[in-house]
Amino acid sequence: MTRRVRPLLTCVALLATLAGVAGATPPEPPTVYVRALGDVSSAHTRWACQVVRDVFRVRCRVLRAQPLPHDALDRARHQYDADRLVDALFRTLPDDGLALIGLTNADLFEGGRNHFVFGLGHLVDHVGVVSLARYRNAWWGEPDDERLFRERFFKVLVHEAGHTLGLPHCANRGCAMRDDRSLADLDAGPTTFCARCAVAIRDRVAEAPGSARWHYTRGHSHLNRGQFAQAVMHFERAVERAPRDARYRNDLGVGWLRRGDAARALWCFREAARLDPTFPNARYNEGLVFLGVGDVSMARRAFERALDADPAWALAHRQLGYLYLEALGDTDRAYEHFDLYLAAHGEDDSVREQMRLIKGGAGAP
Ligand SMILES: [Zn+2]
Ligand SMILES: [Zn+2]
Repeated sequence: MTRRVRPLLTCVALLATLAGVAGATPPEPPTVYVRALGDVSSAHTRWACQVVRDVFRVRCRVLRAQPLPHDALDRARHQYDADRLVDALFRTLPDDGLALIGLTNADLFEGGRNHFVFGLGHLVDHVGVVSLARYRNAWWGEPDDERLFRERFFKVLVHEAGHTLGLPHCANRGCAMRDDRSLADLDAGPTTFCARCAVAIRDRVAEAPGSARWHYTRGHSHLNRGQFAQAVMHFERAVERAPRDARYRNDLGVGWLRRGDAARALWCFREAARLDPTFPNARYNEGLVFLGVGDVSMARRAFERALDADPAWALAHRQLGYLYLEALGDTDRAYEHFDLYLAAHGEDDSVREQMRLIKGGAGAP
């Protein structure tokens, strides 16, 4: 798709130049921003920007350094919480930014999961952080090696930047998006992307800030943080730009529901279901709205229509199980839906317990 669009844009710009039309400049590549957190050498920040520019074919700009946020420091571990740094960076992501990457000399950990991390890139937030702490051999008690330092820095930087462009880990061990947990892994790892990840990167870079998808992912970043007004604003912009996309319309409904406006949410869910009758989420969400106002029969109808769209939609089976059990008093149908829920979803102790109670019936102890 990008191959067809690009020559067209070039032609328009060329014609405009010939006609002397002011303001008709060729489209500029999107901008990735780099920002130091705490004390980082400006040579390192500038070099990181150059790497991002060369590898991803984007513009890269260095933003003013900011202090490391105190609340991200875990004093017992002497490490900073990478998730919190990502949160702090997200608040400063410029509106025209495709992504923002923070650089720090602080050592990082990832809450509850990793003893340490070389960096962390968020797939939805378009924000990541890279720690330079462990690239120097001195950290590991070995003589320093500048070449190795730069190589490690490069690998982690392009990996985390890949995450900020929405790329998950890659199963290809010859790809820079492979998941490296140790220094030995990192040193053995490649510096380039596999063909699939390279194509995904090109596609993401072509999604300029301000596009429907850009607003959509930005909306999710705000939704995840409980910032519902901003989430709704971005989802609305995504819907304006792609009015026939059922997912965007559905998630705008989720935003409205979180803001407490069930009527607007319901309208969005119905519109999403109309746009794509095979999309079960919208009908399911519609059912949740009716459940919220205690309209059991409309809720049941909506959940059943979600199952018309996808008969194995686990959550609809679960909701119907509870509806039949608690509101409609039909334990046979409740059992049936719980059973289908477990088949689609996998084990769930609370549902298994409900089924056991139904089987036990009135005679159960
Ligand atoms: Zn990763
Ligand atoms: Zn890959």
